Amino acid sequence: MKQRSIVTPGDMLCIEEEFIPHAGVYVDSGVVRALIVGKPVYDIVNRRVYVKPIRNIQVPKSGDVVLGVVEQMRDEVAIVRFVGYDINKPLKHEFRGVLHISQVAETRIQSLYEVIRLSDVIRVKVLNNYIPFIVTMKDIRLGVIAAFCSRCGAPLTKEKEVLKCRACGNREMRKLAPDYLFTLK
Ligand SMILES: [Zn+2]
Repeated sequence: MKQRSIVTPGDMLCIEEEFIPHAGVYVDSGVVRALIVGKPVYDIVNRRVYVKPIRNIQVPKSGDVVLGVVEQMRDEVAIVRFVGYDINKPLKHEFRGVLHISQVAETRIQSLYEVIRLSDVIRVKVLNNYIPFIVTMKDIRLGVIAAFCSRCGAPLTKEKEVLKCRACGNREMRKLAPDYLFTLK
């Protein structure tokens, strides 16, 4: 079992046979899960598991605008790992959000691949106060702030309204935030 420094509600801690559930946890089909955000403690002596609440933990909340990295994606849904409120203000703890295709633009798109790609850094807004966090890109300020070539991995440069790879010549599309990082002045 990989021991994490912090758990969030719903995270698996162990199975019921391994440790006796104590404070800050709940049992779901024989699996002990975290009920609160905190540090998991496996008390070997008393054979019990509990979650010690962490004070001053920065948990994303509804309305927050965060930067995240596209960690997994399919045509309709992407998992975004939050990295911070801005580049200079990283988050200390790891949270993820779910971006659904309906939360990208007012107009209908066929696939998320039209607007984001794996490893892109995107700015999103959090829509709820619990896990899983749901995020949206439906705002002029929101979108991709750094994108990398799907072919060779080099940063994509914005030239007029097109993203171009200066390494291999590839051209790609994204929904860009107004302050896209690699913009040709
Ligand atoms: Zn390239």
